[in-house]
Amino acid sequence: MKILVVNAGSSSLKYQLIDMTDETVLAKGLCDRIGIPGSLIKHKTYDGRSVEKEITMADHKDAIASLIKVLTHEEWGVIKSLDEIKAVGHRVVHGGEKFFKSVIIDDEVMQAIEECVELAPLHNPPNITGIRACQQIMNGVPQVAVFDTAFHQTMPQKAYIYALPYEYYKKYKLRKYGFHGTSHKYVAERAAQILGKPYDKLKIVTCHLGNGSSIAAVDCGKVIDTSMGFTPLDGLAMGTRCGTIDPAVVTFLMNKEGLSAEEMDAIMNKKSGVLAISGVSSDFRDLDDAVDQGNERAALALEVFSYQVKKFIGAYACAMGGIDAIVFTAGIGENNPKIRKMVCEGLGFMGASINEEKNLVRGAEMDISTEDSKVRVLVIPTNEELAIAKETKKLVG
Ligand code: ADP
Repeated sequence: MKILVVNAGSSSLKYQLIDMTDETVLAKGLCDRIGIPGSLIKHKTYDGRSVEKEITMADHKDAIASLIKVLTHEEWGVIKSLDEIKAVGHRVVHGGEKFFKSVIIDDEVMQAIEECVELAPLHNPPNITGIRACQQIMNGVPQVAVFDTAFHQTMPQKAYIYALPYEYYKKYKLRKYGFHGTSHKYVAERAAQILGKPYDKLKIVTCHLGNGSSIAAVDCGKVIDTSMGFTPLDGLAMGTRCGTIDPAVVTFLMNKEGLSAEEMDAIMNKKSGVLAISGVSSDFRDLDDAVDQGNERAALALEVFSYQVKKFIGAYACAMGGIDAIVFTAGIGENNPKIRKMVCEGLGFMGASINEEKNLVRGAEMDISTEDSKVRVLVIPTNEELAIAKETKKLVG
């Protein structure tokens, strides 16, 4: 069964065509600058063929048409016709309180996803546009929605209710939702497989550390808490996002600097995080280089970040009443031994210690804990596309 995975952003659309018989990625690519002059498609096949081509793509429908053309192309194609695609799995950022698992898309589901636009005004609209484009061009092919928020919907009320007037929860659905759910679920399940233990008996803290970072407490297969909140701004300091700060800082700064709500929002989302602390970059590779050159603010940024990750691990171990495994994933989690070391330093008291040599691993699955570490510490590369394809296959069978 061949499944197309679509991740539609406002002006870009990433895709992968996966053969689910052996989980081979037959082709993957990106339609970029959709609706902007100079739109182009970048496409690579499993056997090393690739193309990068400027094609006019006025909207997402054009993008889907272009990617289908290239998937079936004589020279760059990997399938003979569109009929070979048996289903499409869509990444949808926000499923609100309505969706706690992936679903086959019908009119009712579409309406519910639209109702969640208010909660994710930047993300859900392009996701919807991507779904509609596929529905139009691949008439009759089942479309599945896989939500970033769904895995976190098992959180108990005590974890997701904010101590704000309760009427706002009722009126605006203002509460913690959590994000990166597809990734947290994938690596938590994979951790159980690697450890050879039943997933529903493990207490796992999953650390998705990338440009956007979040941590989840997965207790016996269910999320009981996570670090991102109503939006992906909450929790850890990230590349350019401030994460959790004293909420009073927001009005203080707005008053002092005469900032509008939009300006304040931009500061917290785009001009904060490790970029702001270091004054160097939002990319941890650049920060590592700067530290090597003696930059103290870059060193401070790494300390702030790893200290916060450590605190979440401690908090979630407490919340679950124990911990069996810590999982590192995403760009930083998979590739940055220094951050993993800083996070795990001093965790021996709770039974977690890492082997420094094994910790040098980058981009591959590895148990990096010492032999006698009671808590297993794992590096597991995430694969959100494969996770979406698996969910899709499960639903369309
Ligand atoms: P996004 O949240 O945009 O998907 P990523 O998961 O790719 O981001 O994470 C980006 C971060 O991961 C950057 O700070 C970067 O330094 C780090 N990173 C990504 N790939 C590598 C790599 N191969 N080696 C070292 N660091 C990496």
